[in-house]
Amino acid sequence: MATVVAAHRDELVDLDRMIGDGDHGENLKRGFDAVVSALDSSEVDTPANVLKLVAKTLISKVGGASGPLLGTAFLRAASGLDEVDGASVAAALRAALDGVVARGKAEVGDKTMVDALQPAVEAAEAVKDKSVAEVLAAAAAAAETGAESTIPLVARKGRASYLGERSAGHLDPGARSTSLLLRSLADSAA
Ligand code: ADP
Ligand code: MG
Ligand code: MG
Repeated sequence: MATVVAAHRDELVDLDRMIGDGDHGENLKRGFDAVVSALDSSEVDTPANVLKLVAKTLISKVGGASGPLLGTAFLRAASGLDEVDGASVAAALRAALDGVVARGKAEVGDKTMVDALQPAVEAAEAVKDKSVAEVLAAAAAAAETGAESTIPLVARKGRASYLGERSAGHLDPGARSTSLLLRSLADSAA
């Protein structure tokens, strides 16, 4: 995920410049670089503990609206992830979405990361009896479609909502980054 975020830093900055304050790519790059350092210098032993360390690091380093939301997503995903199979990965994605919604109160159609994450969760749950790779591939594909669906939307949450109708016609940076993160997970599991 850190590699993908670094490769797409400028794209995410440009998207956020159109409807926000232009920092989303840098926020995420700073956060995921810190995650790599934190993982390198720790001895986390279980999937859940890896996710908890990721969450803690993102919350302290990303900042903005997306830092606490992504941090909460990883923190919620950690609980219950004792083994890694299709069903537990789908459940972890559902828990992540529930955390983002509890914190940010966004719904599908508000032009946020939820527009990518919610369809991803639904797609993952539909194939949860399959392998981790298949569950994550379904999630990533649905997240990409969901992110694209934000282009015509008028933002109702976050900084982009200050633009009102002028936010329409642009891809939401948080939806885009969510689809990139899920695609990198799917690629890692493939
Ligand atoms: P900031 O807007 O504080 O500069 P970022 O640029 O890092 O933070 O993140 C912006 C992204 O955060 C948006 O593109 C959107 O996807 C997401 N976001 C903002 N507010 C919310 C919310 N209430 N719920 C879900 N996602 C949100
Ligand atoms: Mg921003
Ligand atoms: Mg900002």
